[in-house]
Amino acid sequence: MTVSASNHRVVSGAPEAGGAPVTTFTGNRALMLEEPLLFEKGAIDRWGVDLPDVPAVATRLGGLERTAEIGLPGLSEPDTVRHYTRLSRQNYAIDMGIFPLGSCTMKHNPRLNEKMARLPGFADIHPLQPIDTVQGALALIDQLAHWLKTLTGMPEVAMSPKAGAHGELCGMLAIRAAHDAAGSDRRVVLVPESAHGTNPATAAFCGYTVEDIPADARGRVDLAALKARLANGSDVAAVMITNPNTCGLFEPDMIEICAAVHAAGGYVYCDGANFNAIVGRVRPGDLGIDAMHINLHKTFSTPHGGGGPGSGPVVFSAALAPFAPLPFVRKTGDHYELVEEEQAHVSTDHDHSFGRMVAFHGQMGMFVRALSYILSHGNDGLRQVAEDAVLNANYVLASLKDLFSAPFGDAGPCMHEALFSDAFLEGTGLTTLDLAKALIDEGFHPMTMYFPLVVHGAMLIEPTETESKASLDQLIGALRSVANRMLTEDANIFKGAPYLAPRRRLDETAAARKPVLSWQG
Ligand SMILES: *Cc1c(COP(=O)(O)O)cnc(C)c1O
Repeated sequence: MTVSASNHRVVSGAPEAGGAPVTTFTGNRALMLEEPLLFEKGAIDRWGVDLPDVPAVATRLGGLERTAEIGLPGLSEPDTVRHYTRLSRQNYAIDMGIFPLGSCTMKHNPRLNEKMARLPGFADIHPLQPIDTVQGALALIDQLAHWLKTLTGMPEVAMSPKAGAHGELCGMLAIRAAHDAAGSDRRVVLVPESAHGTNPATAAFCGYTVEDIPADARGRVDLAALKARLANGSDVAAVMITNPNTCGLFEPDMIEICAAVHAAGGYVYCDGANFNAIVGRVRPGDLGIDAMHINLHKTFSTPHGGGGPGSGPVVFSAALAPFAPLPFVRKTGDHYELVEEEQAHVSTDHDHSFGRMVAFHGQMGMFVRALSYILSHGNDGLRQVAEDAVLNANYVLASLKDLFSAPFGDAGPCMHEALFSDAFLEGTGLTTLDLAKALIDEGFHPMTMYFPLVVHGAMLIEPTETESKASLDQLIGALRSVANRMLTEDANIFKGAPYLAPRRRLDETAAARKPVLSWQG
């Protein structure tokens, strides 16, 4: 691919460069290796280990036993190891480079946390072990709960929810239980346009009718519209607000919003997945929030993406604390116990618990990582996390907004993520998708695209605090180079990107809608 003079390197060999395409016998491109499926590599009449014959036993499967070969491919151990290692090299990872996905807080995961989580006393325990043998684990959960309450300024926390969206469900179930207990039959949840998509989904899942509250020109909740709706708010159970919101902006009217919702008899659920931007700086409890989940896997680090693991503890105000789910850890003297059933006769602090969210107690490995992260950063370190995350995002915003369209670029600084739109590409026939694909050729995982929905062709970049200025400059340079070329060169070149990735442009919609999940050999 010929690249503009502003770029510092030239990659040749892509078809449109006119350079001679290189043919290889293997299909490999240097160290980028082609890899067939396991089913194509292995054979069912081959296996990698010798096992003794299975002794004959009387079947207890009542006629349901398999009659044909299971058909799994047999491979030797080195073939198997190579298969997965080769596949892993076709993936992008935070350990390879910056992961600019907005909304996801893909930050470096300190290795110290991993070491702590692998300590046998944490890694090898079982949820059904006698309580006396897991006192240390319960102490850790209790300590983490203490710091989550301290950092948020909230009196209660439920540790068991297993992801952000699961935490939302937990918070909304507590709100519903509180309304039920008060005999109120409120059925509406208000969700601003700038909320994360999981918020309306959660409210609907809880059986509520979702109503939108518009965003104002600054990308914030339209306070006047919210107040107007609350004037007739006797049907409003709650408002779900993401703060900082999905435009990467802080909601400055939070105290006023909470007061207005409370005056109308509703509760305020805050989506706290973006806590990374304000940890150590703002305590949500001081703003009047009633329930908020914290994504441990974002703010307090844990390798995530690809579906897990997650952990979404929910902090509660005093008003909602009695409705928090079970189980919870209680310390009596030096002894920790796990309260797993309603004990109205023993305790009055959870006498209206709405029940359980999960079979056991939550994600132990993530609790260990989060506490390790909190304690190793300390008071000043956690505050600096938020400050540096916001500084890095503003550096990205300031470095790109002369070239990229920044819809709220003049509405003051952003928080942890910088939002752009594809308005600057108007007339080129190219879109956010084309830019993202070209960024893959530059060796970066693309930013979040087409979210939030309030902005056309959105591009959301969250660098996080763990990126150096050098790595931000590299990303900014690549984005500027791609954007400049898109504005000046033949659009068709960009419609074909990526050229250098293991696979070219895929039909992602078909892949998502009609996934082929089983091998049809
Ligand atoms: C990530 C995120 C969620 C959902 O969290 P999961 O752990 O993926 O369920 C919800 N809201 C916001 C703002 C987020 O960034």
